[in-house]
Amino acid sequence: MDTVTLQANAKINLGLDVLRRRLDGYHEVKMIMQTVGISDRLTFARTEESGIFIRTDREDLPGDEHNLIWKAVRRMQETYGLCGGVRVRLEKKIPIAAGMAGGSADAAAAIHAVDALYGLGLGLEEKQAVGVKIGADVPYCLMGGTALSEGIGEVLTPLPAPPQASLVIAKPPLDVSTKFVYENLHADRLTDHPDIDGVAACIRSGDLRGMASRLSNVLETVTAKHYPVIEERKAFLRESGALAALMSGSGPTVFGIFEEEETAREAYDRLRKAAVLDQVFLTGFTA
Ligand code: ATP
Repeated sequence: MDTVTLQANAKINLGLDVLRRRLDGYHEVKMIMQTVGISDRLTFARTEESGIFIRTDREDLPGDEHNLIWKAVRRMQETYGLCGGVRVRLEKKIPIAAGMAGGSADAAAAIHAVDALYGLGLGLEEKQAVGVKIGADVPYCLMGGTALSEGIGEVLTPLPAPPQASLVIAKPPLDVSTKFVYENLHADRLTDHPDIDGVAACIRSGDLRGMASRLSNVLETVTAKHYPVIEERKAFLRESGALAALMSGSGPTVFGIFEEEETAREAYDRLRKAAVLDQVFLTGFTA
């Protein structure tokens, strides 16, 4: 196989808890991961010339060793002793620095693509072993769908898809560094912890309203405190008929869950007019 084109889907968190900070600085998390219908498109090709050549349609993204795609391809080359090089074209749709794991999703796509281009025939676990060295969300992005994520993000339990719902997703015009948010989180001082097991149980029993009533993300204690726009967007979505609204990951992306597609579409139209600088999407859960 000479070229391969893949979609890399964004994720949201249907609940995010941080249990503690480990001595090595990593945080132990417990979160529900869910892929949504916002995706990057990546095309990979083998080249005779050795190296990793990345072209993107976004000027603000690095094309060099700072790109997570580069890191993923390099890991694969080193781990499996691959010869030649890889050329990558990235068409970016997932908001950047948004709490939607866009970079991790691209890295996961790169691992799948290199496996396919070189006919390695790796299993999911082997790919995840490479992925976790690039980022804690990469093992999840390699599988996608709905999952309970524990440990530093690498202990994954697949869940069934949640009941059908519509989503309005808004990324306000600010970039939030995940590192900044975790550094300013005092995990040992958190008094309210989300009911992640309850969310998982509602997903398993197909109870959308039960799931929505338990949505909670401890990282809001940092991001929403610094950026009032987070609570403003959540309130807007709730007032527009969302069952619930929550920040995804470390933010600033906020999503609202709607039972009716028509209500979601109206909310989407209203929000696009009210927040012209936001990136706004109308979408749903994906497998
Ligand atoms: P997470 O939800 O995993 O914290 P995020 O959505 O907050 O991720 P990303 O969009 O993945 O953040 O990217 C964060 C940083 O990583 C950006 O500053 C960006 O420059 C860098 N980066 C490197 N490679 C990529 C890539 N392929 N796509 C997006 N960002 C990338």
